[in-house]
Amino acid sequence: MAKQNPVKIGVIGVGHLGRFHVQQLSTIENVELVGIFDVNTEQCTKVGTEFSVATFSKADLLMQACDAISIVTPTTYHFEMAMQALHLDCHVFIEKPITETIEQAQQLLDKAELCNKIIQVGHIERFNPAFLHVKNQNLSPKFVEIHRLAPFNPRGTDVPVILDLMIHDIDILLSMVSSSVKDIQASGVKVVSKTVDIANARISFENGCVANITASRISKGPMRKMRIFQEATYTTVDFLQKSVEIYHVEDELPDGVSKDSVFPLEGHEKKYVIYEKPEVVEHNALREELYHFASVIQQGEKPDVDGHSAAAALHIALEIQKIIDSTIA
Ligand code: NAD
Repeated sequence: MAKQNPVKIGVIGVGHLGRFHVQQLSTIENVELVGIFDVNTEQCTKVGTEFSVATFSKADLLMQACDAISIVTPTTYHFEMAMQALHLDCHVFIEKPITETIEQAQQLLDKAELCNKIIQVGHIERFNPAFLHVKNQNLSPKFVEIHRLAPFNPRGTDVPVILDLMIHDIDILLSMVSSSVKDIQASGVKVVSKTVDIANARISFENGCVANITASRISKGPMRKMRIFQEATYTTVDFLQKSVEIYHVEDELPDGVSKDSVFPLEGHEKKYVIYEKPEVVEHNALREELYHFASVIQQGEKPDVDGHSAAAALHIALEIQKIIDSTIA
């Protein structure tokens, strides 16, 4: 089979995360990294020199030289940059959250459809190897508890913690629960920044599933954990450690199960709790995500995290934000 041409990609915004995009894109086999642009010329030169990649003096000049653009600017510039890239006939990868408002996201979706271009959004946890392992199991969650806690860092505080961190878990949740949202309760507080730094939301779905999500950017240490409860199975996912633990209840003892992994249920002679810690094969999630972006462009397929699912996550995030704002105004 003939080898396909690599996708010509440029990166706009090469700060903290953009530098990692450049690092990965410069070695992904189905990508030709054309160049980078950043309004901070000093930062642009630094990253260009580090990875021996061309620097451009204007965003549109880079866009004109590319098939696709990766937008890693602060969220406030996502819409403007993505619209310009679509206008100049580029597929776009946009870091999360897709935009600041639903109206902007909708305009991007309409424009992308009109010019037949792909939008993929950087909800990177979908490519976390621990989540990929769980996603392939038979999921039918009844209750989901998620914690995403991070120490304070001024980066990202241009948006509330709901759009900065919680949106990862909202996206993960929507990808696991095949039902529409029925009700949301939320609370949150501004502690150190001008926007909400810690937030909790309880999301109920039409099918009866309930999720309790907590996100904080003022914690002492980091934690990114999800617990999924469903009939006869309890699963924990540690996004940080990239590990999965599963407890499931069986009537019969399955063949080949080690004695150390079996706990008979007191008072239930015929029921057994089986514990599993499956091997999760490590990979770099950013690399997988960007490789996927280039692959779907080459194959003309739909990305796993397309603009529509990112807009759905943004919609729920903004609803949560609205509820919290109404309680702290
Ligand atoms: P950062 O501040 O470190 O970097 C942003 C860079 O964009 C800076 O170098 C800045 O000079 C440049 N910039 C600003 N406006 C620009 C413009 N109009 N054109 C070109 N360059 C411009 O921020 P960061 O932490 O790298 O975050 C960037 C984006 O990545 C944000 O949207 C953030 O939400 C997202 N992010 C995602 C994850 C994730 O887990 N997927 C993690 C961190 C950040």
